Amino acid sequence: MPPTSDQILEQLKTVTDPELHRDIVTLGMVKSASANDDGIAQVVLSLPQSASRIQPLLTERITAALVAMPDITDAQIQFEYRLASGQDAPAGQQQQSPEEQLTPQQTARQDNPLPTVKHIIAVGAGKGGVGKSTVAVNLAVGLARSGVKVGIMDGDIYGPSLPTMLGTDKLELKTIGNMIIPFETHGLKAITIGALVEDDKPLIWRGPMAHGAFRQLATQTEWGDLDYLIIDLPPGTGDVPLTLAQLLPLTGAVVVCTPQKVAQDDAVRALHMFQQLDINVLGVVENMSYFIGNDGVEYDIFGKGGAEMMAKQSAVPFLGAIPINMNLRTNADGGDPTANFTGEDKLAAELNNVIGNLKNQVAITDNDQWTPSISIS
Ligand code: ADP
Repeated sequence: MPPTSDQILEQLKTVTDPELHRDIVTLGMVKSASANDDGIAQVVLSLPQSASRIQPLLTERITAALVAMPDITDAQIQFEYRLASGQDAPAGQQQQSPEEQLTPQQTARQDNPLPTVKHIIAVGAGKGGVGKSTVAVNLAVGLARSGVKVGIMDGDIYGPSLPTMLGTDKLELKTIGNMIIPFETHGLKAITIGALVEDDKPLIWRGPMAHGAFRQLATQTEWGDLDYLIIDLPPGTGDVPLTLAQLLPLTGAVVVCTPQKVAQDDAVRALHMFQQLDINVLGVVENMSYFIGNDGVEYDIFGKGGAEMMAKQSAVPFLGAIPINMNLRTNADGGDPTANFTGEDKLAAELNNVIGNLKNQVAITDNDQWTPSISIS
C-alpha cells in the first residue's frame, strides 16, 4: 500500500532548502503531498519567484527522499511560483496541503506581541559590511525627523553596531520590573543587545539562545506607541529572521546591497529568504552606490545601478541609492546620525529619497491590507 499524505509529509521534513537550511515543510513550501496506487508520489510546492534557481536541487532531494519510502517508485513534483507575498499560484491548482500549513508570518499576525507598534520593518542583507546597520539607523532617524514615532532594535545580536552608531554606549540602561526602558536618543527609542552584554565578550549564540535573546529584546522592551519599529537583522540567512517571522507581524523587509555583481547573489538569497517566510519585501537600497570627490566629479567605484537592476529582475521595488560618503562614516563612528540630515552635501537628499520611497511602499501595503466593512444597526 502506498504511504498516506501524512507519512509523505513526515518524510519531506527530511528535505532541506539548500539556501535556507531548514526543512521544506517547516518553511511552508509544501502545498500538497500524496501518492497514487501505482506508487507515484505527487508533491506540489509553492515558492517565491526568487527561489526558482533552486528548483533542480530541490527536485533531486525530494525525489531521493520519496523513492526511499516503501511502495514509492517515483515522484512527480510540481512547482508553483508566487510573484510576491500574497500573490499565489494560478487558480485551479489551489489544493490545500493535508495538514493546513500556516506560514510563520500568518502565525505571527494571529498572535501579535507588539500591538502598540503600527509598522515593523526589518532591515537585512545577504552579507556583512554592506552598510545594513548604517541604513537601518538612518532610516530610523530620517523617519523620526519626518514627525512620526520611531523605535529601533538592534537585532544584529552577533555584531551589534547600534551602541556606537547611536552613541548609546555612553548611556545607562534602565529597567522597570522585567521590562527594559529603551534609550531615547536622536528622536528615537532604541534598544540593543550591546547594552545587555559586556563590551569585550564575543557574542556567540547557539540557535535557541539566539532565538531567546531576540525574543526578549523585542518583547520585553517598553516600546509604547510607535508608528515604525526598525529592526536591524544579522547579515545572511540564519536563525534570527525565522524567529522574527514567527514572532512579529512584519509590514515588510528592506534589503541592503552594494552594486557589485558578487554582492547581488547574496542579496537575492536574502530576498528569497524573506519571501519564503512570507515577509513582504518593501524594497532594495543600494548602498555605497557611487562616490563624489572633492573635485565634484562622481566616481562609479562599484558599478552604480547594480542593485537597482537586481531589484528589477527580482520584481521588488528599488528604494534608492546612497553614495559612499565620508561624513556618513564619521557620523556613524561618532554616534551622531542626525548630522547626516543637517550637512551641506547631497547625502540628506539621498537619504530622504529612500525614506520617502519606503513610506510609499508602506502606504501601498496598508492599502492592500485594508478591507472594506459596513456596519448595519
Ligand atoms: P553592516 O551592518 O552591513 O555590517 P555597517 O552599517 O556596519 O555594515 O557599515 C560598515 C562600515 O561601513 C561602517 O564603518 C559604516 O560607517 C561604513 N559605511 C556604510 N555605508 C557607508 C557609506 N555609504 N559611505 C561611507 N561609509 C559607509
